[in-house]
Amino acid sequence: MPIYEYECRECKERFSVLQGMSEDGEQVSCPKCGAKSPKRLLSMFGSHGGASSLGASCSPGAFT
Ligand SMILES: [Zn+2]
Repeated sequence: MPIYEYECRECKERFSVLQGMSEDGEQVSCPKCGAKSPKRLLSMFGSHGGASSLGASCSPGAFT
């Protein structure tokens, strides 16, 4: 199931929404201020908040 990332046009809050295939993304509203039609960002998995690039490849069982 894809996760979409949005940025609120009003308060610049960023949030992620887990969306099913059939759900309409236009119904999303900001969880902080309630503004509708936030700007959809490209979801980039592991692009931020992760520390996966620093020598973690040698750790056994890291992916289970
Ligand atoms: Zn907002």
